[in-house]
Amino acid sequence: MFKVNQDYLKLPGSYLFSTIAKKVAAFQAANPDKELIRLGIGDVTQPLAPAIIDSLHSAVDEMAAAETFRGYAPDLGYEFLRRAMAENDYQARGCDIDADEIFISDGAKCDSGNIQEIFSPDCKIAVCDPVYPVYVDTNVMAGRCGTYDPETEMWSNVIYMPCTKENGFAPVIPDEIPDIIYLCFPNNPTGSTVTKDELQKWVDYANRVGAVIIYDAAYEAYISEEDVPHTVYECEGARNCAIELRSFSKNAGFTGVRLGAAVVPKDIKDADGVTLHSLWARRHGTKYNGAPYIVQKAGEAVYSEAGRKQLAQQVAYYMKNARTIYDGLKEAGYSVSGGINAPYIWLETPDNMTAWEFFDYLLEKANVVGTPGSGFGPSGEGYLRLTAFGTYENTVAAIERIKNL
Ligand SMILES: *Cc1c(COP(=O)(O)O)cnc(C)c1O
Repeated sequence: MFKVNQDYLKLPGSYLFSTIAKKVAAFQAANPDKELIRLGIGDVTQPLAPAIIDSLHSAVDEMAAAETFRGYAPDLGYEFLRRAMAENDYQARGCDIDADEIFISDGAKCDSGNIQEIFSPDCKIAVCDPVYPVYVDTNVMAGRCGTYDPETEMWSNVIYMPCTKENGFAPVIPDEIPDIIYLCFPNNPTGSTVTKDELQKWVDYANRVGAVIIYDAAYEAYISEEDVPHTVYECEGARNCAIELRSFSKNAGFTGVRLGAAVVPKDIKDADGVTLHSLWARRHGTKYNGAPYIVQKAGEAVYSEAGRKQLAQQVAYYMKNARTIYDGLKEAGYSVSGGINAPYIWLETPDNMTAWEFFDYLLEKANVVGTPGSGFGPSGEGYLRLTAFGTYENTVAAIERIKNL
C-alpha cells in the first residue's frame, strides 16, 4: 500500500485564515443584522490600474493573430520584463543586477516555497517570529525542520529570531549559525522595517558565516522613509549571499493576475563552488512553464509612465488607510506600530488579552475582523494585525467603532 509524504503529516492544525473564516461565518450566522468590516486578510481591493488593463487587452489581441501569437514563454521569462525590472528596480538604484539574473514566476508565494528545493536537506533555516507561514511550512514539507512542539509552537530544527516591542520588531543575529536566513522588509505581519545600515549587518554576517539570505521584498512599494532600503542589493556584498523575491501582488494589485520574480545573482556559490543561479535555472526549466505572455505584458506596464503614476495613487490610497488606522488607534490609547512603510498595523492587545481573545472581542463588540498575531508565531501572541487594504470609508468606520468601545 502506498504512503503519503510523512513530512506533510507533521504540519500542525488548520490554516490560520480558515480558522478565522469559520469564526466569522459562525458570528455572521448568529447575527445576520450586523455589518462586518474585514481588515483581516492581506489582499488588495482596488481594481487593476487602466495602464495595466490596456496592456492586458492589447496582449490578448496579439494572441488572436498568427504573426503575433505566442506559445511557451522563455524559461527565465520574457526579456522585455526582465530588462524593465533590472533597469527600474535595480540599476536605477545603483544596484548591479542583470536581466538574466531575474527569473519571472507566478508570484512570491511560489518562489518563497520552492526556493528551498535547491538547498541540501540538512541546511538549517532561521526565520523571524512572527513570520509569513510559507517559509517554515515549506521547509517542514521538505523534512528540514525536525519535530513540532505544540506547547511552544516551535520546530526543533528551526532557528527563531523573535521580533518584539523591545527590539523594534526587527530580528537580532542569532547565536546559532543558520544556513538560510529568511528576511522580509517591510514586514508582514508587523509592518516593521530595517534601515540600510541594519540590513548591511545581515549581509556582512551572511557572507562571514557562509549563509544565504532569502529576502522577501513584496512590500517594497510601500516604503515612505528615506533610510529604508528598497532592495537587499543596496547593501554591499549582497550579490554574494542574497536571493531577492519580488511580487506584483501588493504594488500593482496582481493577487489574482499572478506575477513575481526571483533574483538569483550569479555570484552566490555553495561550499563546493556550485552557483545557485545554475541550479535555480535548472529547477525553473524543469518544473515551471512560465507566467503567461499576457500577464508579463501587464507586468511591463507597471514600469510605464502611466502605470507608475496610477500605481503610486493606489499605494497612496492604501497608505491613507494605514495612517487612519495608526493615528486613530494611537489616539484611542492603543500601542501600535507598522503602517508607515507597510500596509499593516501591528496592534498590542489591551488588558493582557490574548490575540484570540482580542480577535473575538473586536468581532463581537465592534464587528471588525482582524488577524490574531499568534497565528504568525509565538512572539505574535498579544498582538493583532489590521490591514490597510479595505476601502477608505470602511477603514474610517472600523476605527470609529473601535474608538467607541
Ligand atoms: C503577499 C505576500 C507575498 C506575495 O505573494 P504572491 O504570491 O506574489 O501573491 C509574498 N510574501 C509576503 C510576505 C506576502 O505577504
